[in-house]
Amino acid sequence: MTAPLTTRPPAPAAARSDDFRAEVRTFLASPEVREELRRFSDLPAGREPGHLEVFRLLGERGWLAANWPVEYGGLGLRAVDAATVAEELGLAGVPDVAHVLSVDIVGLFLLMAGTDEQKARHLPPLARGERLATVLYSEPGVGSDLGSLRTTAEREGERWRVTGRKIYSQKSQFASQALCAARTCDGTGSGITLFLVDLTGPGVRVSPIWNATEERFDDVTLDVLVGDDDRIGPLHAGFAVLNTCLALERTGIDYQAKVRRWFDSVRDTAEQLGLLGDEALRQRLVALDTEILAGRLLAYQAVEAVDAGAVDPVVSARSKWFNTELARAVVELALDVAGLAGTATRWDGEPGWRETVEGIYRESPNLRLSAGTSEIMLKVVATLGLGLEG
Ligand SMILES: Cc1cc2nc3c(=O)[nH]c(=O)nc-3n(C[C@H](O)[C@H](O)[C@H](O)COP(=O)(O)OP(=O)(O)OC[C@H]3O[C@@H](n4cnc5c(N)ncnc54)[C@H](O)[C@@H]3O)c2cc1C
Repeated sequence: MTAPLTTRPPAPAAARSDDFRAEVRTFLASPEVREELRRFSDLPAGREPGHLEVFRLLGERGWLAANWPVEYGGLGLRAVDAATVAEELGLAGVPDVAHVLSVDIVGLFLLMAGTDEQKARHLPPLARGERLATVLYSEPGVGSDLGSLRTTAEREGERWRVTGRKIYSQKSQFASQALCAARTCDGTGSGITLFLVDLTGPGVRVSPIWNATEERFDDVTLDVLVGDDDRIGPLHAGFAVLNTCLALERTGIDYQAKVRRWFDSVRDTAEQLGLLGDEALRQRLVALDTEILAGRLLAYQAVEAVDAGAVDPVVSARSKWFNTELARAVVELALDVAGLAGTATRWDGEPGWRETVEGIYRESPNLRLSAGTSEIMLKVVATLGLGLEG
């Protein structure tokens, strides 16, 4: 008899959230959610899910931004509870890009740096899942080195004229707003300021950048006027806030959940194919399962640092790097387990693309690139963590 290969003891912090986790998991397993997930897995190539009903339903319960204050649409819970929701979304296969962009990045930036008036105006619709917001940081030739961005914002009376070109954003075709980083001066601070740009108004052009995955990137050209009441955070010195937010959003929770989901699917496939009697494969599965458990602990360590008010960019970078590099190992394993069948797509009669080996093969590099590449994560740990000069 073969012993079960996958064990999932709760992470220390997660143990405290067990009732909440069970409630979220039950909801995500409900027929209405499963039916919506089935519908988007049937979307033709080039068509991706936008504003999902599941987010509105999560928002109704206050779960979309569980750790936000109640007056802004959250439940006033801890970061570990918000992480529980993110993890369950990943495990349930709910596409999380819109949630990450709207709540974990734009919402977080507003919470950290917005005025009370800006928070009251913008956060509740994001928390209710009624509005999507996206992130316009990267530019042609400007990704890892964000400090060199060229989009400008110049004063025009009471407003700002924001002009430039942004690439690699996602969901801009569905979002009504975007958090946009622009250069406001060359002198004091870093000279970078953040603005909340209305994407539905004049002066915005969005076109697709097709890539290997099912979710497109956007190329966004801006020549827009933004009111000073939508300038978010400090003038000329937004870069420091942006960097703090990056550490907060790099806990790795969503990545590790996705990797766990992929691993479990590979394990199940190996079982269905009758491969679990192969000792070498069993050892590989056990080793990878253990690494994924370790990645989960690293991710919860980063989340607990948030709850303790001691966000540590090194802890976050380590978790982000470790969990996303694991994706590569899971995909290699998936290819070995599935063999030639692993090249089949959903158009070959396979289940939805998120379940197929070729689907995760195409998606996995994204994990190592978005929110800071693996090399940049290593650089953060080397310089800030180990004190190694570059
Ligand atoms: C799935 C996904 C979603 C994204 N979503 C958004 C979004 O919503 N909004 C947005 O603005 N952008 C988004 N991006 C863009 C993302 O932030 C950039 O792709 C990322 O920062 C890397 O920038 P780059 O592509 O310009 O690569 P570059 O910065 O040019 O890097 C190229 C290579 O050089 C390496 N490298 C660069 N600098 C160093 C260094 N100092 N030391 C060592 N190695 C280095 C990198 O690791 C990489 O391997 C997204 C990207 C992906 C993949």
